[in-house]
Amino acid sequence: MNIVRVALDVPLRRLFDYLAPESDESDIGRRAVVPFGKASRTGVIVAVATASDHPDEKLKPVGAILRDMPPLPAEWLALCEFCARYYQTPLGEVTSFALPPMLRRGKLPRPRKPPAPTAPAAGQELPPLLAAQRAAVDAIAAVAGFHALLLHGVTGSGKTEVYLRAIDSVLAQGGQALMLVPEIALTPQLEARVAARFPAAHIVCANSGMADAARARGFLDGLAGRADIVLGTRLAVFMPLPRLRLIVVDEEHDASFKQQEGLRYSARDVAVWRAHQLGIPIVLGSATPSLETFHHASSGRYALLELPERAVAEAMPSVGIVDTRRQKLQEGLSAELLAGLQQRLDRGEQSLVFLNRRGYAPVLACPPCGWISRCRRCAANLVVHLADGRLRCHHCGFEAGIPRACPDCGNLDLLPFGRGTQRLETMLAERFPEARVLRIDRDSASTPKKWQALLATIHAGGADILVGTQMLAKGHDFPRLTLVGAVGADAALFAADFRAPERLFAQLMQVGGRSGRADLPGEVLIQTEYPDHPLYRALVDHDYLCFARGQIEERRIAGFPPFSFQAMLRAEARDMAQSLAFLAAARDAAATLPDALAAGVTLYDPVPMRLQRLMTLERGQLLVESTNRPALQAFLTAWMDRLDALRTPGGLRWHLDVDPLEF
Ligand code: ADP
Ligand code: ZN
Ligand code: ZN
Repeated sequence: MNIVRVALDVPLRRLFDYLAPESDESDIGRRAVVPFGKASRTGVIVAVATASDHPDEKLKPVGAILRDMPPLPAEWLALCEFCARYYQTPLGEVTSFALPPMLRRGKLPRPRKPPAPTAPAAGQELPPLLAAQRAAVDAIAAVAGFHALLLHGVTGSGKTEVYLRAIDSVLAQGGQALMLVPEIALTPQLEARVAARFPAAHIVCANSGMADAARARGFLDGLAGRADIVLGTRLAVFMPLPRLRLIVVDEEHDASFKQQEGLRYSARDVAVWRAHQLGIPIVLGSATPSLETFHHASSGRYALLELPERAVAEAMPSVGIVDTRRQKLQEGLSAELLAGLQQRLDRGEQSLVFLNRRGYAPVLACPPCGWISRCRRCAANLVVHLADGRLRCHHCGFEAGIPRACPDCGNLDLLPFGRGTQRLETMLAERFPEARVLRIDRDSASTPKKWQALLATIHAGGADILVGTQMLAKGHDFPRLTLVGAVGADAALFAADFRAPERLFAQLMQVGGRSGRADLPGEVLIQTEYPDHPLYRALVDHDYLCFARGQIEERRIAGFPPFSFQAMLRAEARDMAQSLAFLAAARDAAATLPDALAAGVTLYDPVPMRLQRLMTLERGQLLVESTNRPALQAFLTAWMDRLDALRTPGGLRWHLDVDPLEF
């Protein structure tokens, strides 16, 4: 009697057996519809067996095995199994996440006639590679089997050109290539560039913003081997590709590769595992590699490929530090920055003022009585949004009208404190009435359509001064942009999160890289009260290596990643005592594990999270750390079994985050 073993999207760390007399080995990797409780569910068959651990008479027959698409290949199942193991997530939740929603529900998209293959464009003229690019392309081509290569080069140094050449040679050998990019960098411009380079190739895009049917069709094109190039965000790492020969991860340091809910995976790390599994090269590109990747490259595990110069513009932008300690700022802007903006206006060039805080002001306050605008559901302030007259919580989305008087004392003079992009925009418009000021943040670019419209305006020369958050930092060329001013950057220097300086450095490098492309030299002005801080000094010198070495040394001394491996257990409940009690019980449960498992693993005290209350839930966390990754993994696996068995109060929810990025 044959039995199929099905991975179902339920929060249980086990598979489910069903009777399936007609089934055989060829059904492994197919979707099956099965009865579950009173309903039916769709899952993925991961094994076919002749016997079950459960008594046969208790097994239900499988509802249907869906044979309308090719089975998911063994290596795809192995990839999901790795993620389930490594991220301590039930296999059924992983396979379900890895499938596009339509296929997950047991459906298929209506087939569409494949586009007529276009003839290869007659002999595209490609520019000769720079020596460093040539060396990088050759190094990638020389890889036999698995090897990770870090391609380190500033914006404009020609990294994308290197990826395209490497993809070209993979396609020429009949292989498929997978290119992962951060959420925001997946633009029609990039798609167009890839499509223009490979007119004869079948290019598939994959991201969460796509319509269901289109995403499912792309997945099926990958699975059937029809796709040549897959270009996508983090979820594309799960695309089945039978002839995959090369993986590229652009902007590998970008935080959007890590998913922050559900399956908390790092697409970059999963991509490296996948390259290893398939025995193929993976290229990780960045101007500011993550310290984890940099450490691998400097210890020789990854190859290091450097592109030291910009491919087109003559020079890197000059970076200047503006010491704001001894001057009176005007609405947060220094005399130097204001003069720079005026000069660009006079010359008909563009400027960008970078402030990583949206809204008008971070809080509304009543100075006489001390009232401040707080979110009812979170331990956070409500941000003033004057543009549409609202107070808004940036954590849970709660919003309310701006009160005319203080709710506590009736005072009519409520003051917005601090500064966000809206306030800068207003101030700049008043100060430079002749300038066209354009704000770009998540409020003004709330939909992809609005975002594209804003980009089009900038490209068409319809803006003189841009005010923006990090949204503007990635992957766009603005040829007339010659000045970038950074304000409010200091906040990240002394943040509690040990990764904050790394993120700040990357953001400032990236945002600075927007200026001075093409033939106009660029200038970056950073306003700070810490002009001698090593992070800023390294920016002035364009010296990522110096910055990274300094950070690595600090991390070595502190024992932070990459010198240790971490996992975070988080709990949320109606009150903090319940959350902390659960975490304490979890810690006690760890103490009952065999000594061999707990050896070398440190569990810290349960503490409230930095944002203690979110959406009315009180949140706590417990950090687990080890210098030995396999030891940590073995511990976590055993620990999860214990935690699953713990009784928890109603309303308490918990999860584990392996390699957490946020604290
Ligand atoms: P990155 O991905 O590092 O930002 P790109 O590959 O986009 O860099 O290159 C930046 C610009 O330089 C692009 O306009 C590209 O077409 C051009 N470019 C890249 N390599 C060369 C080269 N070898 N010769 C001339 N132009 C190049
Ligand atoms: Zn809130
Ligand atoms: Zn008041």
